[in-house]
Amino acid sequence: MADNPERSWRCRRCGALLGVERAGKLHLKYKAAQYLVEGSVTAVCHRCNELSVMATTRTLQDQDARSEM
Ligand SMILES: [Zn+2]
Repeated sequence: MADNPERSWRCRRCGALLGVERAGKLHLKYKAAQYLVEGSVTAVCHRCNELSVMATTRTLQDQDARSEM
């Protein structure tokens, strides 16, 4: 859907898909388990063992909103 954009989070070295950011939350799948994560996440690539860091955008917006109140 156009108003709910998804952003792929890929390994910066080999391009393996690590997760999908959706509405400010990072959606991770591992076998039968699924995780929704907010904030800063560090993942180890399952293919090349490269460390990748992702910070979801929702957390930054929440901090901005709080500082204005
Ligand atoms: Zn990789």
